[in-house]
Amino acid sequence: MYVVMVCICLAVTLASVSYPPFSLDCGSEKALRISVNSAPKKGGNIMAYPEKLNILTYPDPFLTKTAAPVENIDEDLEKTARRMIDMMYKAPGVGLASMQVGIEKSFFVYEQLPGQDRQSPGVLINPRILETEGAFLSEREGCLSVPDFRADVKRYASVVVEGVDITGKPVRLERDDFLAVVLQHEIDHLHGVLFVDRLSTLKRSMFRRKYNKAGKTR
Ligand SMILES: [Zn+2]
Repeated sequence: MYVVMVCICLAVTLASVSYPPFSLDCGSEKALRISVNSAPKKGGNIMAYPEKLNILTYPDPFLTKTAAPVENIDEDLEKTARRMIDMMYKAPGVGLASMQVGIEKSFFVYEQLPGQDRQSPGVLINPRILETEGAFLSEREGCLSVPDFRADVKRYASVVVEGVDITGKPVRLERDDFLAVVLQHEIDHLHGVLFVDRLSTLKRSMFRRKYNKAGKTR
Protein backbone atom coordinates (compact mmCIF):
# COMPACT_ATOMS: atom_id res chain seq x y z
CA MET A 1 0.00 0.00 0.00
CA TYR A 2 1.64 3.04 -0.85
CA VAL A 3 -0.02 6.14 0.04
CA VAL A 4 2.89 8.13 -0.58
CA MET A 5 5.15 10.91 -0.51
CA VAL A 6 4.57 11.03 -4.17
CA CYS A 7 1.15 9.51 -4.37
CA ILE A 8 0.78 9.36 -8.02
CA CYS A 9 -1.64 7.67 -10.27
CA LEU A 10 0.01 7.65 -13.60
CA ALA A 11 -3.32 7.27 -15.18
CA VAL A 12 -2.87 9.16 -18.37
CA THR A 13 -0.01 9.78 -20.63
CA LEU A 14 -0.71 13.17 -22.07
CA ALA A 15 1.84 12.77 -24.77
CA SER A 16 0.16 15.39 -26.86
CA VAL A 17 0.32 18.03 -24.16
CA SER A 18 3.15 20.37 -24.72
CA TYR A 19 4.57 22.86 -22.30
CA PRO A 20 7.90 24.54 -21.78
CA PRO A 21 10.52 22.05 -20.68
CA PHE A 22 11.50 22.21 -17.05
CA SER A 23 15.02 23.07 -16.20
CA LEU A 24 16.34 19.98 -14.50
CA ASP A 25 19.94 20.14 -15.46
CA CYS A 26 21.92 18.99 -12.51
CA GLY A 27 25.57 18.75 -11.72
CA SER A 28 28.43 17.87 -13.98
CA GLU A 29 30.47 14.85 -14.97
CA LYS A 30 32.81 15.79 -12.20
CA ALA A 31 30.09 15.19 -9.65
CA LEU A 32 30.12 11.50 -10.55
CA ARG A 33 33.76 11.00 -9.75
CA ILE A 34 33.69 10.43 -6.05
CA SER A 35 35.75 8.36 -3.72
CA VAL A 36 34.34 5.55 -1.64
CA ASN A 37 35.05 4.78 2.00
CA SER A 38 37.86 7.24 2.28
CA ALA A 39 38.88 8.14 5.79
CA PRO A 40 37.07 11.11 7.28
CA LYS A 41 38.93 14.30 6.58
CA LYS A 42 40.51 15.96 9.55
CA GLY A 43 38.62 19.09 10.41
CA GLY A 44 35.95 18.13 7.90
CA ASN A 45 32.42 19.30 8.18
CA ILE A 46 31.16 17.31 11.14
CA MET A 47 27.72 18.80 10.67
CA ALA A 48 27.28 17.23 7.23
CA TYR A 49 25.25 14.36 8.68
CA PRO A 50 23.42 15.42 11.84
CA GLU A 51 22.67 13.01 14.67
CA LYS A 52 19.00 13.78 14.65
CA LEU A 53 17.02 13.75 11.44
CA ASN A 54 13.67 15.46 11.06
CA ILE A 55 11.67 15.99 7.93
CA LEU A 56 11.60 19.72 7.19
CA THR A 57 8.33 21.13 5.96
CA TYR A 58 7.27 24.05 3.80
CA PRO A 59 8.05 26.95 4.13
CA ASP A 60 11.39 26.03 5.72
CA PRO A 61 13.96 28.05 3.72
CA PHE A 62 16.36 25.11 3.72
CA LEU A 63 14.07 23.40 1.22
CA THR A 64 14.86 26.12 -1.32
CA LYS A 65 18.61 25.52 -1.22
CA THR A 66 20.65 23.55 -3.73
CA ALA A 67 22.59 20.50 -2.58
CA ALA A 68 26.35 20.27 -3.00
CA PRO A 69 27.82 17.19 -4.69
CA VAL A 70 28.81 14.28 -2.46
CA GLU A 71 32.58 13.99 -2.69
CA ASN A 72 33.13 10.80 -0.81
CA ILE A 73 30.98 7.94 0.33
CA ASP A 74 31.88 7.19 3.91
CA GLU A 75 30.38 5.38 6.86
CA ASP A 76 28.50 8.48 7.99
CA LEU A 77 26.74 8.75 4.65
CA GLU A 78 25.86 5.05 4.68
CA LYS A 79 24.43 5.27 8.20
CA THR A 80 22.49 8.41 7.36
CA ALA A 81 21.05 6.84 4.21
CA ARG A 82 19.97 3.81 6.23
CA ARG A 83 18.17 6.05 8.73
CA MET A 84 16.53 7.97 5.91
CA ILE A 85 15.30 4.71 4.38
CA ASP A 86 13.68 3.83 7.71
CA MET A 87 12.08 7.28 7.88
CA MET A 88 10.84 6.96 4.31
CA TYR A 89 9.10 3.64 4.89
CA LYS A 90 7.70 4.79 8.20
CA ALA A 91 6.19 7.98 6.69
CA PRO A 92 5.16 6.12 4.43
CA GLY A 93 6.79 7.33 1.25
CA VAL A 94 8.67 6.14 -1.79
CA GLY A 95 11.43 8.72 -1.75
CA LEU A 96 13.22 11.05 0.63
CA ALA A 97 15.85 13.56 -0.38
CA SER A 98 18.77 14.76 1.73
CA MET A 99 17.55 18.37 1.64
CA GLN A 100 14.29 17.29 3.28
CA VAL A 101 16.17 16.23 6.39
CA GLY A 102 18.51 19.22 6.49
CA ILE A 103 21.51 17.71 4.71
CA GLU A 104 23.00 19.83 1.96
CA LYS A 105 24.44 16.92 0.00
CA SER A 106 23.23 15.59 -3.30
CA PHE A 107 21.56 12.25 -2.69
CA PHE A 108 18.21 10.67 -2.00
CA VAL A 109 16.83 7.35 -0.90
CA TYR A 110 13.98 5.69 -2.77
CA GLU A 111 11.97 2.55 -3.21
CA GLN A 112 13.18 0.87 -6.36
CA LEU A 113 10.08 -1.27 -6.82
CA PRO A 114 7.22 1.01 -5.80
CA GLY A 115 3.86 -0.67 -5.70
CA GLN A 116 5.22 -4.15 -5.05
CA ASP A 117 5.02 -6.10 -1.83
CA ARG A 118 8.75 -6.54 -1.50
CA GLN A 119 10.77 -3.57 -0.29
CA SER A 120 13.82 -2.72 -2.33
CA PRO A 121 15.43 0.46 -1.04
CA GLY A 122 18.04 2.29 -3.07
CA VAL A 123 20.30 5.29 -2.64
CA LEU A 124 21.14 7.55 -5.56
CA ILE A 125 24.08 9.90 -5.10
CA ASN A 126 24.81 12.96 -7.26
CA PRO A 127 21.91 12.15 -9.58
CA ARG A 128 21.37 14.07 -12.76
CA ILE A 129 18.80 13.92 -15.49
CA LEU A 130 20.42 13.27 -18.84
CA GLU A 131 17.42 12.94 -21.10
CA THR A 132 13.72 13.60 -20.93
CA GLU A 133 10.85 12.82 -23.22
CA GLY A 134 7.13 13.41 -23.44
CA ALA A 135 4.83 14.67 -20.77
CA PHE A 136 2.08 13.47 -18.53
CA LEU A 137 0.05 14.64 -15.63
CA SER A 138 1.20 13.24 -12.33
CA GLU A 139 -2.10 13.10 -10.50
CA ARG A 140 -2.49 14.12 -6.86
CA GLU A 141 1.22 14.31 -6.28
CA GLY A 142 2.26 14.93 -2.70
CA CYS A 143 5.36 15.41 -0.62
CA LEU A 144 6.40 14.64 2.94
CA SER A 145 7.63 18.23 3.18
CA VAL A 146 4.23 19.63 2.16
CA PRO A 147 1.83 17.72 4.41
CA ASP A 148 -1.88 17.61 3.68
CA PHE A 149 -1.67 18.99 0.19
CA ARG A 150 -1.83 17.26 -3.14
CA ALA A 151 -2.00 18.55 -6.68
CA ASP A 152 -1.63 17.44 -10.27
CA VAL A 153 1.83 18.20 -11.61
CA LYS A 154 3.12 18.16 -15.17
CA ARG A 155 6.07 15.82 -15.41
CA TYR A 156 8.18 14.28 -18.13
CA ALA A 157 6.86 10.92 -19.27
CA SER A 158 10.30 9.35 -19.36
CA VAL A 159 13.71 10.19 -18.02
CA VAL A 160 17.24 8.91 -18.15
CA VAL A 161 19.00 9.50 -14.85
CA GLU A 162 22.58 8.80 -13.87
CA GLY A 163 24.26 8.79 -10.50
CA VAL A 164 26.11 6.40 -8.25
CA ASP A 165 24.81 3.99 -5.65
CA ILE A 166 25.94 3.67 -2.05
CA THR A 167 28.87 1.46 -3.09
CA GLY A 168 30.06 4.07 -5.58
CA LYS A 169 28.92 2.02 -8.54
CA PRO A 170 27.58 4.07 -11.48
CA VAL A 171 23.83 3.73 -11.94
CA ARG A 172 21.84 4.54 -15.06
CA LEU A 173 18.07 4.46 -14.85
CA GLU A 174 15.84 4.71 -17.91
CA ARG A 175 12.28 4.92 -16.68
CA ASP A 176 8.87 5.73 -18.08
CA ASP A 177 6.77 4.56 -15.15
CA PHE A 178 5.92 5.66 -11.64
CA LEU A 179 9.59 5.68 -10.72
CA ALA A 180 10.23 8.28 -13.44
CA VAL A 181 8.12 10.71 -11.43
CA VAL A 182 9.76 9.76 -8.15
CA LEU A 183 13.17 10.47 -9.72
CA GLN A 184 12.03 13.86 -11.02
CA HIS A 185 10.45 14.76 -7.69
CA GLU A 186 13.53 13.83 -5.65
CA ILE A 187 16.02 15.45 -8.01
CA ASP A 188 13.92 18.61 -7.80
CA HIS A 189 14.45 18.59 -4.04
CA LEU A 190 18.20 18.61 -4.58
CA HIS A 191 17.72 21.86 -6.52
CA GLY A 192 15.49 23.52 -3.97
CA VAL A 193 12.35 22.88 -5.98
CA LEU A 194 9.14 21.57 -4.43
CA PHE A 195 6.29 20.11 -6.43
CA VAL A 196 4.17 23.15 -5.53
CA ASP A 197 6.73 25.29 -7.40
CA ARG A 198 5.68 23.46 -10.54
CA LEU A 199 2.04 24.48 -10.27
CA SER A 200 0.51 27.28 -12.29
CA THR A 201 0.54 30.74 -10.69
CA LEU A 202 -3.15 30.41 -9.95
CA LYS A 203 -2.86 26.99 -8.34
CA ARG A 204 0.20 28.10 -6.40
CA SER A 205 -1.65 31.03 -4.92
CA MET A 206 -4.53 28.70 -4.01
CA PHE A 207 -1.99 26.49 -2.26
CA ARG A 208 -0.54 29.45 -0.35
CA ARG A 209 -4.01 30.59 0.72
CA LYS A 210 -4.85 27.11 1.93
CA TYR A 211 -1.59 26.88 3.84
CA ASN A 212 -2.04 30.36 5.27
CA LYS A 213 -5.48 29.42 6.50
CA ALA A 214 -4.08 26.33 8.14
CA GLY A 215 -1.44 28.51 9.82
CA LYS A 216 1.32 26.62 8.11
CA THR A 217 3.05 29.58 6.54
CA ARG A 218 4.95 32.18 8.32
ZN1 LIG B 1 9.04 15.72 -1.76
